[in-house]
Amino acid sequence: AGALLQVADLVVDLPGGKSDLRVVDGVSFDVPAGTTVGLIGESGSGKTMTALAIIGLLPGGAATGGQVVWRGEDLLHAGPTRRRRVRGHEISMIFQDPLAALNPTQRIGRQVGEILRRDGVPRGEAGRRVVELLDRAGVPDPVRRAREYPHQFSGGMRQRAMIALALAGRPSLLLADEPTTALDVTVQARILRLLRSIQERDGLAMLLVSHDLRVVAHVAGQVVVMYAGRVAERGPARQVLDRPAHPYTRALVRSVPAVRTRTALAHPLPGAPATPANRPAGCPFHPRCPLARERCRLEVPAIREVGPDRWSACHFAEEVLP
Ligand code: SF4
Repeated sequence: AGALLQVADLVVDLPGGKSDLRVVDGVSFDVPAGTTVGLIGESGSGKTMTALAIIGLLPGGAATGGQVVWRGEDLLHAGPTRRRRVRGHEISMIFQDPLAALNPTQRIGRQVGEILRRDGVPRGEAGRRVVELLDRAGVPDPVRRAREYPHQFSGGMRQRAMIALALAGRPSLLLADEPTTALDVTVQARILRLLRSIQERDGLAMLLVSHDLRVVAHVAGQVVVMYAGRVAERGPARQVLDRPAHPYTRALVRSVPAVRTRTALAHPLPGAPATPANRPAGCPFHPRCPLARERCRLEVPAIREVGPDRWSACHFAEEVLP
């Protein structure tokens, strides 16, 4: 069975000062229908640009290469009308800052209703569906709250309103970019539980973009770890986090205080992350890598299969895998 979404050799160039910046450099992964894939990376890793390329919302002047294949159709070469149709209906996105997605001057219910009306849902029915959508997104007292404005909602409630908005077009794939990063820990856990239950109940596929390993580990079946615009490693979430096949993933896992094993001390990653503007030659991780040697400085490691369904872009992945 083909995947719902296939990202193949995706390249994104942004206009830079002297020359273009390659912010995404040959990224490939699949999102099968009804599954959650986690896209992990530090800021500057290219994870958000990958999500924006999928939904067709890259900043102006961006150039793309490779393919974003949605149900067999390459969206990178689809026309603007088709792209608009896919966005919000087949693929929806939720952001870290819900205020960026919500209109401050319009009642919440009206904003959700407008999407339904645009799809030809009659007014009376739309009103009923708005309440239903807010309720599904866990907004309490949805009839009353539908009449309120975004500023009357707390941060967590706004996130729920944005989720209702994202679900209104009945998408098959939800892109969630750092959906809980701005929230406090308790609200974070509730929103994640909500996303997971929606995903499971409706059979939605989800691409969860986050810098936070713990967030991704809770929700994703598969993970893609990005570093400096490239995929460092990908595979089943549990395996990748328990037995990383790339020194970057291993360092990332060790940088998180382990709740399960109650290790008190985390080991922060040494050095600063590589950025597209100053990507080191060879393996982009080599200045920070404890296993780096001559070959790493000279030769870009290609991603390769290092075990069943395990992929790593490290020359010496076999030394990392226990
Ligand atoms: Fe480290 Fe070399 Fe592997 Fe890069 S290729 S992660 S520098 S060991």
